[in-house]
Amino acid sequence: LVIGVAAEKAAGERRLPVVPDVIKKYAGLGARALVERGAGAEAHFPDEAFGDVAFADSGEDVYAGADVVLCVQPPSQKLIGKLKPGAVLVGMLQPWSDAKRVQAIAKRGVTAFALELLPRISRAQSMDVLSSQAAVAGYACALIAANHCPKFFPMLTYAAGSIRPARVLVIGAGVAGLQAIATARRIGAQVEGYDVRPETREQVESLGAKFVETGVDATGEGGYARELTADEKKQQAERLGKAIAQCDVLITTAAVPGRKAPVIVTKKMVEQMKDGAVVVDLAAETGGNVEGTVAGEEKRVGGVLIVGPTNIASRMPVHASEMLAKNLFNFISPFIKDGALTLDWEDEVMSGACLTHDGEVRHEGVRKALG
Ligand code: NAD
Repeated sequence: LVIGVAAEKAAGERRLPVVPDVIKKYAGLGARALVERGAGAEAHFPDEAFGDVAFADSGEDVYAGADVVLCVQPPSQKLIGKLKPGAVLVGMLQPWSDAKRVQAIAKRGVTAFALELLPRISRAQSMDVLSSQAAVAGYACALIAANHCPKFFPMLTYAAGSIRPARVLVIGAGVAGLQAIATARRIGAQVEGYDVRPETREQVESLGAKFVETGVDATGEGGYARELTADEKKQQAERLGKAIAQCDVLITTAAVPGRKAPVIVTKKMVEQMKDGAVVVDLAAETGGNVEGTVAGEEKRVGGVLIVGPTNIASRMPVHASEMLAKNLFNFISPFIKDGALTLDWEDEVMSGACLTHDGEVRHEGVRKALG
């Protein structure tokens, strides 16, 4: 069984889907790795670190020669056209974003697993790429905020007195938000957190932050957040507005599964923020939680700076790759034995994450969404 890893081709993508330690684990299962030269360079894993693997000179050679191809982002049409019919493709395939690409993968006769589709059950936690990369993004966005903030995060005492800590407000206390809270706390800021799921209060408080109460409970299906009604939005805006006006740093991470990010912070709220305040909108790529966010840009609105970073996890490519590599290995390795891969459609994690198989788009939700 040949496991293929090509260098990621998307602009700015520095991660890779295996790291040398995990390559050894695949070898332990009887699989051989075929790695494009330089695939790990951007994540600081030079070719020599991979040890005894076969190298290919191009991504095309990897895609043509592998039985299982691992990737971070979806491959280009050109690479899809090189895959062996019957091959298996595993990665973050962005199943909702490009119908043509999904159809091309299906037509090629490839069995593709999009790990964004994993059922969110306890057993799948160790494979959950969304969570691992959200944790990286949450950490990184607290640092981005600290870097742009014209104030110290921690309290500082010096010979002429003391300086108060910066006030940081984090909206959305999922995996990314909690990591942003933890990181801002570690740097010494005074932190507040908010989410529409009331159970997050305890999680926010356990990190030493204060929970902002708005009285809105929008726990939806499966315990995830649902969209707010117009009345709830109004109530949320009234109560949150005050906290937003008082903070030095606002980090927004709110998301609703399968939907555009909710707009929580209006233009008017931004205008009421302090001069010098910094907003980091982690939801920039999916539309933004803040009115006026531009994905991939830094924008000034009066005295407020709004940062809309994209592909944040890629800024920490060493650990982001390590985490991804383990997620992918935990997903596929139970089905590899003595150098052979046996797919098991009775397995709810495997069947749940399946995007294409046997020439068809298998995932019902994606098939409907793509029309
Ligand atoms: P996410 O990235 O989907 O969303 C981020 C947060 O935004 C969520 O906490 C959500 O409640 C919040 N949000 C949505 N609308 C909001 C609004 N209008 N105002 C304020 N906040 C709003 O979330 P996530 O990080 O994937 O985690 C969500 C939950 O799923 C957590 O409880 C997490 O522990 C759980 N989870 C379970 C598994 C698993 O069992 N395999 C894996 C990952 C996450």
